[in-house]
Amino acid sequence: MSKNQITTKSPEETKEFAKVLVEEWIQINKTKNSNWLVCLYGDLGGGKTTFVQGLAEEFGIKETVNSPTFLIMKKYTSSKKINKKYTLYHFDCYRISDYKEILNLGWEEIISGENNLIVIEWPEKIEEILPEKRLNIEFKFINENARKIWF
Ligand code: ADP
Ligand code: MG
Repeated sequence: MSKNQITTKSPEETKEFAKVLVEEWIQINKTKNSNWLVCLYGDLGGGKTTFVQGLAEEFGIKETVNSPTFLIMKKYTSSKKINKKYTLYHFDCYRISDYKEILNLGWEEIISGENNLIVIEWPEKIEEILPEKRLNIEFKFINENARKIWF
């Protein structure tokens, strides 16, 4: 899928990987009003939600990020730690059978807004409406503690 690859050996290492990506993204985007769309592919238990927890921490989100499986989407606001406020929209499309369910959650406004971080688990369920410009990350279960990640 993508060319870069790392192996993490604990949930903490997966969170650390997320934090490094966040810092790179912030460096590039701190003077712009940009959205960031991140699509997380891979099976259950691959570490997608763990990754989002690391990402959220690095954006100064104080609440605990859990899987929004039953809600489809959860919204969080970053603290003022960074130069501006970001809104994190964490989607879990596992239970979605029709992308229109996402449109009903205000998708168009979210995707076209400013300073929105849109992170999607099970993006293949809504492939039809995903913009081209996005970061794809794929997680693969290796063993109890190891995950291979392509990005
Ligand atoms: P997903 O959202 O992809 O279903 P989760 O992040 O919810 O996956 O769950 C991953 C599980 O695997 C967690 O219980 C986590 O503690 C465990 N785990 C073990 N090793 C790792 C690792 N290297 N990276 C991420 N999670 C790991
Ligand atoms: Mg998950």
